Amino acid sequence: MKRGIYEDQRLARKHTLQRWSAEDSAELYGIRNWGAGYFDVSAEGDVVVYPFGRSHKLNVSVPDIIRGMKERGLDMPVLLRIENILESRISLLHKSFRNAIESLGYQGGYRGVFPIKVNQQQQVIEKIATYGSMYHHGLEVGSKAELIAAISQAQDKEACIVCNGYKDEEFIDLGLHAVRMGFKCFFVLEMPRELELILRRSQQMGVRPLIGTRVKLASKAGGHWSDSGGELSTFGLTTAQIMDVVDRLQKEDMLDCFRLLHYHLGSQVPNIRDIRSAVMEATRVYAGLVSEGAAMGYLDLGGGLAVDYDGSHTNFVSSRNYTQDEYCTDIVEAVMSILDETGVPHPHIITESGRATVAYYSMLLFNILDVSGAEAFPDNLPDTLDESEPEMIRNLFEAFRGLTLRNLQECYNDALYYRDEIRRNFLDGRVTLRQRTLGERIFWALMRRVAEEKDKLRHVPKELAEIDRVLADVYYGNFSVFQSLPDSWAIEQLFPVMPVHRLREFPDRPAILSDITCDSDGRIDRFIDPQGVRNTIDLHSLNGEEYYLGVFLVGAYQETLGDLHNLLGDTNVVSIRVEEDGSIEYRRELLGDSVADVLSSVEYDPRRIMEQLRDTAEQAVREGRITPSERYGILQAYENGLRGYTYFER
Ligand SMILES: *Cc1c(COP(=O)(O)O)cnc(C)c1O
Repeated sequence: MKRGIYEDQRLARKHTLQRWSAEDSAELYGIRNWGAGYFDVSAEGDVVVYPFGRSHKLNVSVPDIIRGMKERGLDMPVLLRIENILESRISLLHKSFRNAIESLGYQGGYRGVFPIKVNQQQQVIEKIATYGSMYHHGLEVGSKAELIAAISQAQDKEACIVCNGYKDEEFIDLGLHAVRMGFKCFFVLEMPRELELILRRSQQMGVRPLIGTRVKLASKAGGHWSDSGGELSTFGLTTAQIMDVVDRLQKEDMLDCFRLLHYHLGSQVPNIRDIRSAVMEATRVYAGLVSEGAAMGYLDLGGGLAVDYDGSHTNFVSSRNYTQDEYCTDIVEAVMSILDETGVPHPHIITESGRATVAYYSMLLFNILDVSGAEAFPDNLPDTLDESEPEMIRNLFEAFRGLTLRNLQECYNDALYYRDEIRRNFLDGRVTLRQRTLGERIFWALMRRVAEEKDKLRHVPKELAEIDRVLADVYYGNFSVFQSLPDSWAIEQLFPVMPVHRLREFPDRPAILSDITCDSDGRIDRFIDPQGVRNTIDLHSLNGEEYYLGVFLVGAYQETLGDLHNLLGDTNVVSIRVEEDGSIEYRRELLGDSVADVLSSVEYDPRRIMEQLRDTAEQAVREGRITPSERYGILQAYENGLRGYTYFER
């Protein structure tokens, strides 16, 4: 385990426990590094949201929002969306590009499109379509379903609709109908074959299509999704195939329909160098197409604009080594410099930023149900051991009593040896259950001493550093990783996690998080750290009140990838909007799945379930196990259970 600076701070401050402040918490959890100005800690020790960004003083506290949800009867876990943040993200993207375009004197415009796959929820797409229309912000689709969703929400005819994905005849017809209705709906060829289908259907329907191609670039990007870019990427046309498209369109006298060049490097590209080299290569291809006589006019750079999840501002996978302004400036500058060399007019630049548009706008809130840890082996040890205890247990006890900073490693080694001996002897029946338990208690007491002492060493051996993780408490959270944070499980993506209140108190418990599936994969044991990754997070001891944690920046990709592991369903979703006067409007409440909903999704029929339960209960009445009126009560309980939330309810 790495000892990040957070850890060192923690140690330094252990001695000044009473003086722990909200400021210290802000630093410990790095909220100002990853919060992008939307999140901070108040002097009262609560996480606060700045719905209009940090340039605006107005903020609202997350515990207040939670109180409001409670009053409305919405149980944890809740996915909280803050609509203002989505608006702010769209505005910022356009402002960044506009600044770059104006300051560099670029002649084309910027047209953003939102890739529906990043968050397909109707309320998200509707918001983007309506709010985005002031910037002509469009949508990117990858399937027929997404195309229909896009057309149903889109209103602005200046906005682009970009059709990626493999297209059949029906997909193409739907797109051509959209063109007839006045939408700027582009077909991007992912495979050469699609061209013939587009030509045939557009001729039959009498519509001039807007055609683009996805190019396989030689440039590749690092990061989680690096396989989607590069020459070996699954999708897109090689330059040779693109030349065939040019020739074919020329033969049909349709080069005026060739309007767009697209590429997609992959999502979450952490390094600006990769972004720059890809845009330069693509611009060369673009210029070549113009000189071949294609009408063009649009250069679509796909997604990839990363989110700084860990706030480290580095080229680490969960970060990015550039700002949004740098991203925009570098792109505009690169396109411009290459096209000016060859005298090609500047196209409209399209980007398909998904993650950077929606990640900030949702947070997952949940309560902690229980903690297990040190209590499992209490360390109230006797002062001396009875002579009758087995020798290995007495030796272990001696090691514990004799532990000093100087013999730390030796004691640690001895402890492991004796513990294994005790276990072996227990298996052979030479150590009793009670003796083994005594041994385990001494062992863990010794480990806790090692953990404390080791922090005084100048260099902590890796083996000893690992103890912190082993000794960490397990905090059981009322959520499911599989449902709400699928990328945390599937690709080990890091999200910022922190308590949303009590931040004036010192968080004295290094912990890992487990969800309520009690599945060994249903846990979070990797946390952000500016130096790398931490294996524990510092949390507060439970004090009898509800303890709430938030997982932040979860608006992108997490909602529909989630699955029904253990039949834990969709969480409640609450959308709020903060008005300029600071009042909070609870705009939408979507109740999460009920037990009946999730059972239906795996083909159980809730009505049939009740019939079967009625029969089972009737049988029990006949056997004299329960009375008819007890049967009534039991059936009521099952019916309520079917209607209830799938998560832990207090
Ligand atoms: C997934 C995807 C995107 C979105 O990428 P982000 O990194 O989330 O911005 C854009 N375009 C295409 C073609 C995609 O497949």
